[in-house]
Amino acid sequence: MADGQAQPDCLFCKIVAGEIPATVVRQTDLTFTFKDINPQAPVHDLIVPRAHYRNAAELAANAPELAAALLTEAAEVAKAEGIADGGYRIVFNTDAHAGQTVFHVHAHVLGGDFLSTFGT
Ligand code: 5GP
Ligand code: ZN
Repeated sequence: MADGQAQPDCLFCKIVAGEIPATVVRQTDLTFTFKDINPQAPVHDLIVPRAHYRNAAELAANAPELAAALLTEAAEVAKAEGIADGGYRIVFNTDAHAGQTVFHVHAHVLGGDFLSTFGT
């Protein structure tokens, strides 16, 4: 069972710990939100739990309350970014076929304009 412990070689654990800089959007006790370094939309933020789980399935299975907190935070981020009214997309890439590249679960929050209807 995954226990949420920080992983020494994980990029997003390092960002949460402040060891690698990022443009912070919002922080809560449970979550950390920062700008994607390679934005695919006018607003493109990443929301991560402070705890380390490899993907959305592992998070949901091991810490469902934290999965809920991530979705709750997505709505707060959208409001803070001014995209709540226009609408936005929440994406969890999960493993190879989705092209997941960082194996610390993260919600992409994309908005600020009309988005293509497939992929990000
Ligand atoms: P994935 O493809 O795993 O769903 O998304 C990983 C995301 O992390 C990508 O959109 C990529 O641009 C972003 N990313 C990768 N390295 C960094 C980094 O060092 N800083 C920030 N802010 N974003 C990163
Ligand atoms: Zn991590």
